Amino acid sequence: MPTGTCPECEADVHVDTDADKGEIVDCEECGVQLEVVGLDPVELDIVEEEELDDDEDEDEY
Ligand SMILES: [Zn+2]
Repeated sequence: MPTGTCPECEADVHVDTDADKGEIVDCEECGVQLEVVGLDPVELDIVEEEELDDDEDEDEY
């Protein structure tokens, strides 16, 4: 089973043999979400969870 290295904590992260680029895997060490950006060798990139909240209208006025 191929493994990549977590950019966050440098742990070995297992990637499915049939994983494709763009696949999201979780690091078992630190729980961060990683995107498969390369397959030979496996390269992983941290997925930044961006919360794009458009101004929420509060209806209290
Ligand atoms: Zn990690």
